[in-house]
Amino acid sequence: MSMIEFKNVEKYFGNFHALKNINLTFEKGEVVVVIGPSGSGKSTLLRTINGLEMITSGNLLINDQDIRSKQTKLTEIRKNIGMVFQHFNLYPNKTVLENITLAPTKVLNKSEKDAADTAESLLDRVGMLDKKDSYPSTLSGGQQQRVAIARGLAMQPEMLLFDEPTSALDPEMIGDVLDVMKKIAHEGMSMIVVTHEMNFAREVADRVIFMADGEVLEDSHDVESFFKKPKEVRAQQFISKVV
Ligand code: ADP
Ligand code: MG
Repeated sequence: MSMIEFKNVEKYFGNFHALKNINLTFEKGEVVVVIGPSGSGKSTLLRTINGLEMITSGNLLINDQDIRSKQTKLTEIRKNIGMVFQHFNLYPNKTVLENITLAPTKVLNKSEKDAADTAESLLDRVGMLDKKDSYPSTLSGGQQQRVAIARGLAMQPEMLLFDEPTSALDPEMIGDVLDVMKKIAHEGMSMIVVTHEMNFAREVADRVIFMADGEVLEDSHDVESFFKKPKEVRAQQFISKVV
């Protein structure tokens, strides 16, 4: 069984055709990078996986559960599949530690002590333990993003989705965030990462998916060959612009 399976998935926003006949499977432990021009449907693809957008037709199975079935609880899916956004979305009136303990105590019913212990060890892993009592507004973008990643991990998800996690950061902050993501990937986390960081993709991805105009044009498990010479002309053009 694949963790995630798209079968003939279509997504429309009104008359706009945002995802076109998507057929993809994602397996446990895979690190997949999704690339493509702006407006190609990358965010929409990610957002359908944790139910932030509903598909229009076709089937999307998460651990064999159809996302559109009445029995499927989106809250359960979101517990299991975390998402890290471009704009961190930390709670501004909560400390770093509270940002991380909130969902585990409220949603997983962990005790405050358990949640705080886990949060501290995660903050240590992302290099942010010394800021545990700070408020988000006092942190740099890169620091906030590392806290957001720790917050995602605190739910012990089966998979993490990243939607351009470094696109809003000053260049000098990007490396620290990518290093944290590399570490998580090497520890075996299942990840789908939308990014323009091609060096990260080359170094970390098991697989690269290229999208354009709502379609998956390439899906390659040979990441190095893909970057040396993509098969599709539009992928070649895209790579030559961004690398
Ligand atoms: P990407 O992440 O690759 O830049 P998106 O998935 O965000 O692309 O968007 C794909 C297309 O769908 C874009 O043309 C965008 O304008 C459109 N789109 C995305 N979300 C909505 C929405 N909520 N309503 C209408 N159009 C949308
Ligand atoms: Mg996007």
